[in-house]
Amino acid sequence: MMDIALPESLAQARERLHQALLEAKRPLNDATLLAVSKTKPVSLIRQAYALGQRAFGENYLQEALDKQIELADLNDIVWHFIGPLQSNKTRAVAEHFDWIHSIDRLKIANRLSEQRPSHLAPLNICLQVNISREASKSGVIPEDVKALAYEAAQLPRLRLRGLMAIPAPADTLEAQRKPLAELSHLLTELQTTLPQAPLDTLSMGMSDDLEAAVMEGATLVRLGTAIFGARGAVNS
Ligand SMILES: *Cc1c(COP(=O)(O)O)cnc(C)c1O
Repeated sequence: MMDIALPESLAQARERLHQALLEAKRPLNDATLLAVSKTKPVSLIRQAYALGQRAFGENYLQEALDKQIELADLNDIVWHFIGPLQSNKTRAVAEHFDWIHSIDRLKIANRLSEQRPSHLAPLNICLQVNISREASKSGVIPEDVKALAYEAAQLPRLRLRGLMAIPAPADTLEAQRKPLAELSHLLTELQTTLPQAPLDTLSMGMSDDLEAAVMEGATLVRLGTAIFGARGAVNS
């Protein structure tokens, strides 16, 4: 498949999200497009920014920090950290990101809260849920979400915004929807048990399951390939 230019692929991604929201009979401003720029050059981030994109997601900490230095002039980018995080690397996330989606244990949350500089707004966090219960995958198992959310909601320098998941790949729309519906249900339960927390975010939906995710209530869809093209060894 030949790569198309970024202005076109970004416009297509926006149109896909728009259509998915229409079909789900949801307000058109109900979900935000997060552009997942991991492995992609800053030149493409600049192009997307010039076209109005503001939320960017990165997975690899050092790569993200290097890009942030090069893009320091674009000071209203909203940076989301969406990859796994080791506890000895929390400080850089606390200091340089607006959001993290991959919290799956209290130790990481505690450290981020302690390390979040006081001149910045509290760090927005989502708990990553291993919704398909894959042994090899990160994320808290569904049974443990409530306990972790309860603890994370008490931390002074964090804002518990919602849940994130990367479900196992599935072939049909129905099969894609099932775990996404489960994540949505977990968020609804949390909203009841933690009414004081600003729980407004379902981070789900990627290039292959955007439509299913929007049907199930996604508010933050994380698109990489659909915007920036395939990631690979050649053009990485
Ligand atoms: C890479 C990545 C994405 C984007 O995936 P695509 O299939 O390229 O859209 C979304 N979320 C996370 C957590 C990722 O690591």
